[in-house]
Parts: sequence; C-alpha cells; structure tokens
Amino acid sequence: MNTSSPQHTPMTQFAVANNELLIGGIPLSRLAQRVGSTPFYAYDRQVMAQRVHGLRQHMPPDLKIHYAMKANPMPAVVQHMASIVDGFDLASAGEMKVALDTTMPPENISMAGPGKRPAELRQAIAAGITIHIESSHELETIAQLSQQTGHQAHVAVRINPAFELKASGMKMGGGSKPFGIDEELLPDALNRIKELELDFKGFHIYSGSQNLKAEAIIEAQQKSIALAMQLSKHCPNPIKKLNIGGGYGIPYFPGEARLDTQAIGDALAGPMAEFKSANPEAEIIIELGRYLVGEAGVYVCEVIDKKISRGQTYLVANGGLHHHLAASGNFGQVIRKNYPIAIGNKMHSDAQEIVNIVGPLCTPLDILADKMLLPVAEIGDLIVVYQSGAYGYTASPRDFLSQPKTEEVLV
Ligand SMILES: *Cc1c(COP(=O)(O)O)cnc(C)c1O
Repeated sequence: MNTSSPQHTPMTQFAVANNELLIGGIPLSRLAQRVGSTPFYAYDRQVMAQRVHGLRQHMPPDLKIHYAMKANPMPAVVQHMASIVDGFDLASAGEMKVALDTTMPPENISMAGPGKRPAELRQAIAAGITIHIESSHELETIAQLSQQTGHQAHVAVRINPAFELKASGMKMGGGSKPFGIDEELLPDALNRIKELELDFKGFHIYSGSQNLKAEAIIEAQQKSIALAMQLSKHCPNPIKKLNIGGGYGIPYFPGEARLDTQAIGDALAGPMAEFKSANPEAEIIIELGRYLVGEAGVYVCEVIDKKISRGQTYLVANGGLHHHLAASGNFGQVIRKNYPIAIGNKMHSDAQEIVNIVGPLCTPLDILADKMLLPVAEIGDLIVVYQSGAYGYTASPRDFLSQPKTEEVLV
C-alpha cells in the first residue's frame, strides 16, 4: 500500500471492545443476533445527542437548531431528535405525520420543497406548521386553501439567492433553480402575501448540502443574513424566523477532514447579533440533516461468499446498493470512492488483505468497497459501513431486484 495516499478520517464515534465494534454499547455480533438477521441499519442515539450538544457549544447560544428529516425519517429517530433539537424541517405530508406524532410543537415545524400538492398544503395549513413558499403559483394556492379551510396559513418565503454555496456537494440555490423564489422577485411576492393576509413568518435560504469548508459556509451565512436584512423593509410584518440553511458536511472519503464548526459559530455571532437588534422578534435557525445523524449510523451486512477472480479477492455480501445506494457510489458521486468500512467482529488484525466487497445484485454497480485494505474476513463475518445514518435506507432503491428489505434499529 502507498502510505502517502489519503486515508479515511478515523471513525471514533463508536467504542471497540474485545476486537468488536460496539453500537449503543452493544457488541455488534450480539446486536446482529438481537435483530435476528442481516443486513440491518443501526443508529446510536448517544452519538446523535453528542452531535447536537457539540454543535450547541460552538454555535451562538440563541441559534435554533432544526433537524431536516429527510436525512433519516425513521420514526424512532425523529422521536429521539424531538427531545434534543429546537424544530423540524420536512418536505412531505408523510414526513409531517411522523413529525406531528412526536412532542414537537407545530410552531417549530416547517415544510419546504418544490411541488407540494394541494392536499399536502391543506394538511400543513390545518396542522399549523410554517410553509416555505417555493413559487408564486404555490403562494396563490396556499391563499385559496387558507380561505377554503378558514385557517390562516403561516408562511415563510424560500429565497433563491443570487449567490451560490461554494464547494458544496449539492448546490440548491443560486442561478436558475427549481427551489425558492428568485431574490429579485421577492418584493412582489411579499406584497402579494400582504394583500392575501397570510401570516408572514420570515425567510428561508438554503444553498446546498455536504460542505466541509467552513469558509464557504461562513460566506453563505453572512450573505443570507445580509440579504434578509435588505429585504426586511418589504416585509408585511416584522420577521419572526430567519432560516439560513445548513449544509454542514461529514467526512466520507479518504482525505476529507472534519468541518470546523467552531470557526462557523465564531463568525456567525456578529452578523446574528446585528440582525437580531434590527429584527428583535426574529429567531435565527439552521437546519441540518446529515451532520446530526449521519455519523450515528452504520449499515451492517454479512459475508456470504468469498472468491478470487484472476488475482483479486471478492467478499460477496448479503447487502448492497438496494439498501445503501450512497455507499455504492451511485447517489450523486461523479467518481466512485469508498465509504469507511470495517469488519465489525474483527476490528484489528495482523492479517490484512486488499479486497473488493460487492453486494448480491446482478449488476456491476453493486459495490461497497473497491480495493480496500481490511482485516482478512471469512464467510459469516460482519461488514460495517460507517457514516450511514443519513441518506441511507430511504434514499435507496429498495425494490431493485426484489431482494428482501432490511431492518432498522435505534440503540
Ligand atoms: C436536504 C435539505 C436539508 C438537509 O441537508 P443536509 O445536507 O442533510 O444537512 C436541509 N434543508 C433543505 C431545504 C433540504 O432540502
């Protein structure tokens, strides 16, 4: 192995005892017995709490932290998050049901996303959550539904800013986008909200996802606050909520380092205080999915065959792309890279070998590891894919090749 090539950031969120990974304090092989079958996803509630509490120490104390549910909508996870975050951001009536089943008050829940159906909007209005308006047509629909139902709609405007979030894995603002209302059209939209007598709460600016560059996030946050400041003179009433997005990333691939959240918090304090003194009723919100839950989850599958083809060793697993599209490299990656992986029941071994780990699907896309150096594994050993708590199971093509579903547990 070339020792100078970039390595994965060490995965230190779970303890190891007797050469086995512990999830929620439970040895992995015992957890597998408890679940009853492999593959499965396991999420560690303590790690989620550590991420939220760690972030609170770095961010300004009055910053609200919301959980973006699409990262992991498992009801037990959302229930757990309800007790440690300040609000939820969701993007469908299905997610809204899960959110409202928790103790989170509707005032602290918002719904974003293009293409909200009238039926969903009616449910959101009745629930009393804040709807993030994504187009002028949606604005008119909300007003009509509000009249029909007799319930005032709470709305915020999602702004598609003129700037982009630099160095982001996925850009969701700036230039021409399906998300939000273009910055230059905002004064008209705000007038219309006033005419239609909707309850205006404020603004939402979300510029992108999976960013590991603190400077890029700092720049986007400062521009978002400046933009809201500038638009506040057009608002029908004082701003109550300013959601400045998120995009905080986690390290997945060799050479990626952890995000410097302290630098972000330090840089946010000044602009945030300034905004609040000009808009005393406003709370400032960040919405994070991946950062809060991504590192708390593992995907566990089992070696069911081991073979050598023309000099290369293959571990064939009973899980893969159909449960974990992102780890296979087919969810938004341009060049496939390996997620961090371990043999969960053989965490350390003097005997190591370079292996390819593939799933059971009849397609060359079903890869979990490409030429990785790992402890020598045998049939029955447990393969652990780290960083799997976000955009895992619900972001995967579960029906592809009619394979069995997988379990999810929160420990
Ligand atoms: C997807 C999404 C998020 C969550 O993004 P993460 O990268 O998981 O933090 C937050 N807000 C909006 C509007 C989103 O679409």
